[in-house]
Amino acid sequence: FAPWNDPNAKPYIQFDNVTKKFGDFTAVNNLSLTIFEREFFALLGASGCGKSTLLRMLAGFEEPTAGRILLDGQDLRGIPPYRRPVNMMFQSYALFPHMTVENNIAFGLKQEGMPKSDIEKRVAEMLKLVKLEQFAKRKPHQLSGGQRQRVALARSVAKRPKVLLLDEPLGALDKKLREETQFELMDLQQELGLTFVVVTHDQEEAMTMADRIAIMDKGEVMQVATPAEVYEAPTSRFVAHFVGNVNMFEGKVAERAANTTRITGATGAQIVVENGGNTAAGADIVFAIRPEKIKVSSKKPVDAVNALEGEVYDVAYLGDMTVYHIRLDDGQMVRASAMNASRVSDDPLTWNDRAWVSFRPDAGVVLAR
Ligand code: ATP
Repeated sequence: FAPWNDPNAKPYIQFDNVTKKFGDFTAVNNLSLTIFEREFFALLGASGCGKSTLLRMLAGFEEPTAGRILLDGQDLRGIPPYRRPVNMMFQSYALFPHMTVENNIAFGLKQEGMPKSDIEKRVAEMLKLVKLEQFAKRKPHQLSGGQRQRVALARSVAKRPKVLLLDEPLGALDKKLREETQFELMDLQQELGLTFVVVTHDQEEAMTMADRIAIMDKGEVMQVATPAEVYEAPTSRFVAHFVGNVNMFEGKVAERAANTTRITGATGAQIVVENGGNTAAGADIVFAIRPEKIKVSSKKPVDAVNALEGEVYDVAYLGDMTVYHIRLDDGQMVRASAMNASRVSDDPLTWNDRAWVSFRPDAGVVLAR
């Protein structure tokens, strides 16, 4: 499933140069974005970046100040929320407290005037979908947080919208339940064949669930890509920093050849990388590399193209992995992580030990400063 790589794939949701202003303040700035049918799409960004505003415009709660939003080729301008094939599930999933689970789910269907027997069928189907058949007669306060969340979900898909919008859907759940629910949401999306657009500020959540992620900052999209691309090939410092941990080596491009780029750091240390991006010799750049791409060893690694010496600043054992901070001799702090595949590391390094960090030329990306 990768319609974004297919030049013939039909766009499903299109934000076309959309701007949203609140008075003088620009919440969404001339933003264009395409989402495909059946995609699980995440809008990821810090508080205030405009992601909820984008979702609310798609739902019809706000109208763009400029630009268009299309759904399946149809311009949505002027179409009220209830007439859009879109439903929204909110963070504070306000269930009706005095209604049973089944009545909560049936509410929207009744309002729509669906015949009673059809409602009963649909509600049963929805209860089965979210595995709450035996809770049909309970009220929300008699449910756990996760169960309530599933009722809210069942309610929001009961009308069979084509697109489900989720604004921080799992924000109220604790970490463990949130992770479980992420997988449930993915299964549900597959099963229903719907397009999901989720807003989150939690990068792990976006990475786990989404087919593609749009990373937003100040009302603009910084990058749209699959989780792997966003992590492995960020196109800006902002994205590299926003998703996961990263080391940044500042330097200048000293030499640019067909396949290799030589970078000189501020203190003269040299790094050789394979992907120089479109930087030219003399350019000020940063080399961004993820902690797990860096190897730490007590001896100078033989054959390593890039090896820098320093001292262990601290070591943190996290169970699944160990995280090292190495202070290089030029003063730069490097974070490196190693999975604890075997029980005991065969190269145990501890605080203040001399250490080498090494990495392959293709292990990171060169970005504009
Ligand atoms: P959060 O995760 O905190 O909800 P967000 O990225 O979803 O953040 P938005 O809710 O889209 O951010 O808001 C983007 C910006 O627009 C914020 O600075 C917010 O204060 C502003 N904003 C949103 N709605 C309005 C409004 N109705 N009137 C004025 N300003 C608004």
